Amino acid sequence: MGCHQPCLVTCRTPPLFYPFLIFLHYLERVTGKRITMMALVGLWVVLWGAGEQTVAKVVPDRVYQGQVAVLQVSAPAPPLSLVWQGREIRFFPFPGGYRALIPIPADLKPGTYSITVPDGQLTPIAVSLRVLAASFPTQRIKLAPEKTKLYEAPEREKEREVWRASLRTVSDQVLWSAPFLIPVSGRKTTGFGVRRYYVGRSQPFSYHRGVDLAAPRGTPVKASNSGRVVLARTFTVEGVSVLIDHGQGVLTAYLHLHSASVQEGQVVSRGQEIGTVGDSGAVTGPHLHWALYVQGVPVDPNPWTRESWLRAMGLLPTLQTQR
Ligand SMILES: [Zn+2]
Repeated sequence: MGCHQPCLVTCRTPPLFYPFLIFLHYLERVTGKRITMMALVGLWVVLWGAGEQTVAKVVPDRVYQGQVAVLQVSAPAPPLSLVWQGREIRFFPFPGGYRALIPIPADLKPGTYSITVPDGQLTPIAVSLRVLAASFPTQRIKLAPEKTKLYEAPEREKEREVWRASLRTVSDQVLWSAPFLIPVSGRKTTGFGVRRYYVGRSQPFSYHRGVDLAAPRGTPVKASNSGRVVLARTFTVEGVSVLIDHGQGVLTAYLHLHSASVQEGQVVSRGQEIGTVGDSGAVTGPHLHWALYVQGVPVDPNPWTRESWLRAMGLLPTLQTQR
């Protein structure tokens, strides 16, 4: 039995399936009764299926770069965490089973990927996920030399490690209960995933890991959703920054603030003011850089602001009923 598109069920063959078919074929020749054979094959598959209840599916099974897929597994016990693009991804309870959020990096090569769910007791299950190419625009950026210098600052390595460690935060509880808010009502100047070439930097290429919203200095910035503040501090490149944990590996970041009005560890509610728009760090003018991370990978935050998308992905409201 091959793996069909979309691959929804366990891609396994019952043990001794082929010897059994040969035996049935022999039986059919001897008895001349084809119906007996069909009935026995059916019974074999049904009995095998009843013993193996694990079913996995990925929603959607075709996803663009920079988006998120949800892997749903109906299993009586939690599956072991899976490894996706070098990251360990945990499963959390979901009605009828367990669920894992799979972030698709914006620079992941398009193609068909196989995700293996190690379910602990039985044979691992493979599901396939098709990653489609998103059309990201390209931008050339020339920063003033004093801003470029910030990227090479001696404290930079330490700061990068603080970000890496903080973005790895995966807490058990889902803290969001409604679509994510766009934190300031400003004009979008640069979208997510834009390919950027920096003039005069030692690392000239990167992609834009969030959405830039232009707004005057001092404009209040709201928390996109409820959560707990992981970071509220100043970095050389990112400037005054706030990072909020919304649970199960979903975090939002707010960069280049003028000021932050929350503290690390503080619990915030959706829409609460967390700071004001500024131009701190390596920027050319006042704006908010707003980013959404899933399991440490920056993804396009826009779908998360839409109730229809969250519902289609099973991320609303069923999660609210968990534990
Ligand atoms: Zn930005």
